[in-house]
Amino acid sequence: MTAIILYIEDNPQNMRLVRKMLGTGGYDIIEASTGREGIQAAKSERPNLIFVDINLPDIDGMEVTQQIKADSTLKNIPIIALTANAMYGDRERFLDGGCDGYLAKPISRRELLATVEKFLDPNANGDG
Ligand code: MN
Repeated sequence: MTAIILYIEDNPQNMRLVRKMLGTGGYDIIEASTGREGIQAAKSERPNLIFVDINLPDIDGMEVTQQIKADSTLKNIPIIALTANAMYGDRERFLDGGCDGYLAKPISRRELLATVEKFLDPNANGDG
């Protein structure tokens, strides 16, 4: 079974780029362009991993993360923040906010795929 990755991102160029990078890794990508749409997609699609942009048009990526982590049926899904806000202290802020990982833009394909492999549960595709 192919792992499903949800990417919550309002910038079409970033979406296209990441979709292309993940596509070469053989993953199924679900796209959401707002925070609320992303939370809905997490509930309905039960992805194996979530990438979330921080600056979104409605609620921000930290709020998205907090809402997903507050849902007992979703809280085990790893959430990785993808952000251009690569400032001192951001990494700690995002990890304290509930994200499982953090990648600063611009995203490198190698780094992205390494992160996916690190966070995908090898047992997730078994009998579940
Ligand atoms: Mn954005």
